[in-house]
Amino acid sequence: MTFPAKGFAALNATSPLVPFEFERRALEPTDVKIEILYSGICHSDIHQARSEWGPALYPMVPGHEIIGRVSAVGTNVTKFKIGDIAGVGCLVDSCRSCASCGEGLENYCEKGMIGTYNCADPKRGGLNQGGYSDIIVVEERFVVKVPENLDIKGAAPLLCAGITMFSPLRHWKAAPGMTVGIVGLGGLGHMGVKLAHAMGCKVVMVTTSPEKGADAVKLGADAVVVSKDQSAMAAAAGTMDLIINTIPVTHDVNPYINLLKRDATMVVVGAINPVEAVNTGAMIMGRKRIAGSVIGGLPETQEMLDFCGQHGIVSEVEVIGVNQINEAYERTIKSDVRYRFVIDMSTL
Ligand SMILES: [Zn+2]
Ligand SMILES: [Zn+2]
Repeated sequence: MTFPAKGFAALNATSPLVPFEFERRALEPTDVKIEILYSGICHSDIHQARSEWGPALYPMVPGHEIIGRVSAVGTNVTKFKIGDIAGVGCLVDSCRSCASCGEGLENYCEKGMIGTYNCADPKRGGLNQGGYSDIIVVEERFVVKVPENLDIKGAAPLLCAGITMFSPLRHWKAAPGMTVGIVGLGGLGHMGVKLAHAMGCKVVMVTTSPEKGADAVKLGADAVVVSKDQSAMAAAAGTMDLIINTIPVTHDVNPYINLLKRDATMVVVGAINPVEAVNTGAMIMGRKRIAGSVIGGLPETQEMLDFCGQHGIVSEVEVIGVNQINEAYERTIKSDVRYRFVIDMSTL
């Protein structure tokens, strides 16, 4: 028996999201059914709803920052019981047989990860639908446990924004004694400040806006460099062991390369589009690297949530009702949110 579900969907690339009824699949033996409580709004929801990342699949219920309560479990489920608080992020399946999947890096599945929405379900047919809805059915391997002490509204964005920042900080071994630059203070950047601070790093916020710099200090940054201030950028040259660059649009990365120490890496997590021409001279002269990173695998996503539970870290959120989704999209595009919208799904 499938489950009737309701949500908010994009029906095409140009119309506002509207109420939408659909079916969730019947519970399979390793499936978990979740009553969704909160769903974050990620900028990539907007890109996909508007078909800005290649042809999108409609109707589309966006949402990949999902927190809810387990309301049913399949006969072979071992990790969850009814009543548990659970999370679902950007992917709900992968091939499970490639080298990446074997290492728990399902986000780098060589056959392509199966997205929570805007993605066909290769096993059962039909389209996967995301978190702007009342229920979801996901296999337990792709569901994570949410520490009970975390405020669940603020925990929702950890499933995308949180892991997007945590994974590169871990991979490039952020640790006490290191200076970590976070470029851009939005949904991603503010999580980077909190996480790098909790990992014991010296955190430097690099932002165009002195006001955002002041905010970053409140969130845990130790210093601020205003990127429009040439002398401040010059003074910070060669000081950073690691930079996580969250700028979501095409931009000139060269000023940030100059901030790196010898052998240091800048990880680009925001701009999926090409950046402006890179001055490889600046990289050659310091054996510097530019790298990329996308979310994290399921084991690391669980590790991130456990870390956030230990350190009491959640996202700064503005909670909205479902009728404000379209308005929230416009405000997200203008960066008019501190720092993430989260939809209260009880308003559906
Ligand atoms: Zn996202
Ligand atoms: Zn795979």
